[in-house]
Amino acid sequence: MKIIQDFSLQELQDLMLSFGEQKFRAKQILDNINLGKKITDFSNISKSLKEKLLAEYEDIPLKIHTIQESKDGTKKFAYELWDGNIIEGVLMSYKYGNTLCVSTQVGCRMGCKFCASTLNGLARNLSAGEILSQVLVVNNYLGGKVGKNREITNIVLMGSGEPLDNYDNVIKFLHLVSSPDGLNVSPRNISLSTCGIVPNIYRLADEKLQVILTISLHAPNDELRKTIMPIANKYSVNQIVDAAKNYFNKTGRRVVFEYALIDGVNNTVECANELASLVKGFPTHVNLIPLNEVKERDLKTVTHKKAEQFADLLKKHKVSVTIRRTIADDIDGACGQLRNKIIK
Ligand code: SAH
Repeated sequence: MKIIQDFSLQELQDLMLSFGEQKFRAKQILDNINLGKKITDFSNISKSLKEKLLAEYEDIPLKIHTIQESKDGTKKFAYELWDGNIIEGVLMSYKYGNTLCVSTQVGCRMGCKFCASTLNGLARNLSAGEILSQVLVVNNYLGGKVGKNREITNIVLMGSGEPLDNYDNVIKFLHLVSSPDGLNVSPRNISLSTCGIVPNIYRLADEKLQVILTISLHAPNDELRKTIMPIANKYSVNQIVDAAKNYFNKTGRRVVFEYALIDGVNNTVECANELASLVKGFPTHVNLIPLNEVKERDLKTVTHKKAEQFADLLKKHKVSVTIRRTIADDIDGACGQLRNKIIK
């Protein structure tokens, strides 16, 4: 089956013409899509056109399967896709708005040792419309509409999957969600997180999209990084830093490095010093995340005190650094944990 949410306005116009319909129907269909509606519930669309659509397209690509609410107000969503696959996302509410964390693949094949998303490997890529639909259904769930009445203000591509391993669909999603015909979320409010697929970081820099690039570094040298992230066998830390510099030069956007603190593994004084010298010399920010322990893995998190000590070492080198508060750790907050529970 095909997915109508994959379509841009232009593509919907071509589709309408091929159906023998008038072009303006495309905008009406897109207005319905933007409200997170399934084809059956489209308004202003004739029964016969809906039937034509339903003969070829999924009524809706995904629906909310489960919602877990954390003590801190964070909500974790599991979605059921049209083919029965389960994916997940997290909604974080702040004073300035709502940030939705979206998945880009069903599972992941990157194999990072600390991450639950990768435990069952990669099932398949998500299409642009399937990534978009996560935003649409949660915006709708929150009572949001489009434009000023939109509830989702920020998006992070930090759910299950490696965005740069599903490059074309992710780029298409970024165009769809930021389009004035769509939800119109500014790319400046979207963060794309990658484990460091270097050639695609260069490609992304040339897309003229202005998204915030977030790189999951987690270790300041190749030897250590290889023990926790298989991708380190392919691309070196220096290649990643060069790609990050290029991203800054092309987009003018400061690059964020994510560093999950794993006790006794990557939180030594030497690691802090090495990390500081890596990220110096161009505008960067380091986000320290105390490891969210995953029960299938025996890696241990750090105390808040140890996280602060590590941050202080970086600050001494004038590195811009924050410690990300661990959110939703009472509701399977780490990537892939809720999905794994449901698919078991
Ligand atoms: N594949 C992308 C997006 C993954 S999730 C990437 O690698 O960046 C977003 C962030 O959460 C990444 O930095 C990832 O390394 C981190 N992460 C995954 N599992 C974690 C865990 N158990 N504890 C802390 N951070 C984790």
